Amino acid sequence: MKLSKVVAASAAVLALTATATACGSDDKDDSGSSGGGKIKVGIKYDQPGLGLKQPDGSFAGFDVDVATYVAKELGYKPSQIEFVETKSADRENALARGDVKFIAATYSITDERKQKVDFAGPYLLAHQDLLVKADSNISKGTDLNGKKLCSVTGSTSAENVKNTIAPKANLRKYSGYSECIAGLQSGAVDAVTTDDSILAGFAAQDKYKGQFKLAGLKLSNENYGVGIKKGDAALEKKINAALTKMVSDKAWDAAVKKNFGTSYKNEPAPKVGVIVK
Ligand code: GLU
Repeated sequence: MKLSKVVAASAAVLALTATATACGSDDKDDSGSSGGGKIKVGIKYDQPGLGLKQPDGSFAGFDVDVATYVAKELGYKPSQIEFVETKSADRENALARGDVKFIAATYSITDERKQKVDFAGPYLLAHQDLLVKADSNISKGTDLNGKKLCSVTGSTSAENVKNTIAPKANLRKYSGYSECIAGLQSGAVDAVTTDDSILAGFAAQDKYKGQFKLAGLKLSNENYGVGIKKGDAALEKKINAALTKMVSDKAWDAAVKKNFGTSYKNEPAPKVGVIVK
């Protein structure tokens, strides 16, 4: 009697342990709401207002909120999301290797990138612009010729400078925009170019208040998409549905308000499937 109770109890413990192990050890990224599985999501870590790793280790920004909403629609709670840094130049490879399930990282949909990855969205329309010191007389693209200009490796911004905006600019390419901003502050570069959404986020930071200004040029259309591995049509469809729902239930507006506030005047929500050329 006594013994059989012990056996029964141990069996129960074993069963519990097995269940816990199955959940806990499952770091595969596709078990969704069915268990404790994780989903790995690529974001930027150094872009205030969009994707920022905060001193306490948490993440904040519009892309983070979009990613969290999309993950929820895929069946994952916020606690099941593991954010991974995907710098501009690493995004296509991170998706191809399967390091992350999807990327929400100021990732413009382009024909060139579509050779390697697929995109859901778009979910935001931004424009390339310039950030300069508050007293700078650089005000248009051609003013950049002969000037030290910073952008990021693997970005559309750097490509546009070389190809169209200012081919004679002395372009420095860093791996992240925060490094460009540090260079602008120190005087190592004369201007930083990328999406207005990103530049506005830096300009609004307390530590830079009053130091920089945006030129206010719409040098390109940057249609932000959610990057996924090439060929995953089912995932693309699910994410498109999530993005459409995020707009219709006003979570998109709430995320805009929370993250951009008065610092960035964004365009209205784009229609999923419609790219502004
Ligand atoms: N949206 C542009 C791009 O996808 C510039 C911002 C970035 O580098 O993330 O390249």
